[in-house]
Amino acid sequence: MKQAVSDIAVDFEKIRKDFPILSSELNGHPLVYLDNAASSQMPRQVADRLDRYNRFEHSNVHRGIHTLSQKATDAYEEARKKVHSFINAASEDEIIYTTGTTDSINLVANSYGLTHFSEGDEVILSEMEHHANIVPWQMVAEKTGAVIKVIPVTDSGDLDMEAYKRLLGPKTKMVAVIHVSNALGTINPVKEISDLAHENGSVVLIDGAQAVPHQKVDVQEIGADFYVFSAHKMCGPTGFGILYGKKHLLDEMPPYRGGGDMIDKVTFEKTTYNVTPFKFEAGTPPISASIGFSAAIDYLEKIGMKAIEEREYELVNYLVEQLSGINGLKFVGESENRACLASFVFDHIHASDVGTLLDKQGIAIRTGHHCAQPILRRFNVPATSRASLSFYNSKEDIDRLVEGINYVKSFFE
Ligand code: PMP
Repeated sequence: MKQAVSDIAVDFEKIRKDFPILSSELNGHPLVYLDNAASSQMPRQVADRLDRYNRFEHSNVHRGIHTLSQKATDAYEEARKKVHSFINAASEDEIIYTTGTTDSINLVANSYGLTHFSEGDEVILSEMEHHANIVPWQMVAEKTGAVIKVIPVTDSGDLDMEAYKRLLGPKTKMVAVIHVSNALGTINPVKEISDLAHENGSVVLIDGAQAVPHQKVDVQEIGADFYVFSAHKMCGPTGFGILYGKKHLLDEMPPYRGGGDMIDKVTFEKTTYNVTPFKFEAGTPPISASIGFSAAIDYLEKIGMKAIEEREYELVNYLVEQLSGINGLKFVGESENRACLASFVFDHIHASDVGTLLDKQGIAIRTGHHCAQPILRRFNVPATSRASLSFYNSKEDIDRLVEGINYVKSFFE
């Protein structure tokens, strides 16, 4: 388990009321939402901000001379400032807006990978990657002749760091690893991974989709060259995400998409490009989503990431303790460094039956391969049930889950 970090008194009962959906019913029961790793819920502060923008403030950005366009541009650009300080990037120019983690990784794989990889170069991934951090590299490897190497995972669900050290070599161009596993819950030692890659002269990308919503992330401390995440897993809107990249790398990378806004000068003979970060942001961007994301960052910062981490630490300890008491339940992923989720299986009950029967009791969890088929194969299971927490969950939610699972089990006994 990760360590609690502080003693900050925050009224989480009150905070829970910010999320209207948590007081609603699902299939005739009060909703218990435990699918936060897939997408988190949105507090009314963020929904209200989006509503206000869409009703009264909307205009296109960067192009208009009129006041409304300038106001929209200011609000849209504010997210860049907020993200920059939220993750402690060295400059606002290092924050690229994308449509999410998947898009951010595709951008790096295509822009950096296509221009830096050649035949026989190696890209190191880990066995516990989300498909978003596998497939884009495979697609680029097919075009360039690069080869994918994979860090194995131990029985407890940790990265085999000795194997990682052995994989690093003169051909390693890129190391791309998940910060917190969405399938196992493992928190990986990303600073160590990054330091080792840099000593080897390799570039590092960290998939932070499951980390940034739950802990204070300092990209300069981690030291990775690229760090990516999605707004919708951290109380923000869908369709928006971030690519953080070190400025000197972004500056030398070519644009990934062409179109309006990303140009300096266009003629039919030749186009020159805008500066970083704008050269990566072609076309009308997700304006309202960036403004909603600003509000989400304000919301999280008001609670405080340390308080969030501490609250989730308490909840996940309770979750693991309660699930451990259920006969026949086996965890998939039992790292000492576990984030706020638990994946589990039963020998004689399929995960989709668990999910369906819990849903009928108003309890939303995720079942399946969690877009991480290789790691499920590693553990010899086709699917798991995954309960993933957020700071707005309660011990009562976990009690309802345990009751629900016991009810599911009663069908199969
Ligand atoms: N990486 C990880 C670790 C994830 O959990 C997810 C979402 N499940 C993604 C990448 C993809 O994120 P998105 O769908 O927002 O692009």
